[in-house]
Amino acid sequence: MNRMDRSDMHLTFTRSPLDHAGLARSNPEFIDSALRDPAAGCVLFSGGDVVMSAEGDPLVLHPSQAQAMGLRPPGLIFLGVEGHRPWFAGAAETAQAGPPLDFRRATMMAEPDMAAILGRARAILAWHGRRTYCSNCGTPNAPRDGGTKLVCPSCGTEHFPRTDPSVIMLPYSGDRCVMGRQPAWPPGVFATLAGFMEPGETIEEACAREVMEETGLKVISARYIASQPWPFPSTLMIGLLAEIEPGDPVAADDIEEARWFTRDEVRELYEGPLMRWGPPHYSISRRLIETWLQG
Ligand SMILES: [Zn+2]
Repeated sequence: MNRMDRSDMHLTFTRSPLDHAGLARSNPEFIDSALRDPAAGCVLFSGGDVVMSAEGDPLVLHPSQAQAMGLRPPGLIFLGVEGHRPWFAGAAETAQAGPPLDFRRATMMAEPDMAAILGRARAILAWHGRRTYCSNCGTPNAPRDGGTKLVCPSCGTEHFPRTDPSVIMLPYSGDRCVMGRQPAWPPGVFATLAGFMEPGETIEEACAREVMEETGLKVISARYIASQPWPFPSTLMIGLLAEIEPGDPVAADDIEEARWFTRDEVRELYEGPLMRWGPPHYSISRRLIETWLQG
């Protein structure tokens, strides 16, 4: 069955097959042995996009082959172990790699396990791209634990790949929900609301603040549904259904229009041609809408 047709699948980037080997990876001998493992695989990126094989799949090389192609600092990153197979990732020097495929398209087409591996790889590589220098003293950082952390050789500060939590929610009251649209979206497209959490907030408070900021409507309670790593570049989407007080939404912030939808209107929109751009399991926004539609 074509996976594009399967709406019952788990969300893309979730249920990764990787054991991150959090204890073992601090031992350089473990990483060396994983690098020499004949079964080891390495995925390659170019500017955040996925280097593909001639067959049109994400290119998987042995780490030694990837190294020989020329990788941007800090070189090979250890991602984890799938069964007994170690996985690595690297950012190819652009001149050496074939034309990459847009990350979103590549992961929409990839098998779920590969999409999860690529998602973890992209988030860590993007972090390396922004953490070349110690944010405490400015000295170039040195990779440790297979590149899953950085240590400043001057002041000793440890730097870890960051994950930025974001709340994403479908506000509803009774038999209707509120969706918003951003100016960059194609005309007619409406979806859930979302925003980054701020320091000092609980998940529920972030949800209430974002709904208030973007629509002026008051959240009564919020219920957790699911979460999804979103490697654009390093967000964790925390998905909620938010019961709100009825009222007229007033769009603000990054929302240009927000309005109430009946269940039939939502079904019409989400089963229509406007929303057929991607597989349903790719976005938690769609998963939240389907959860609400199912009652
Ligand atoms: Zn430092």
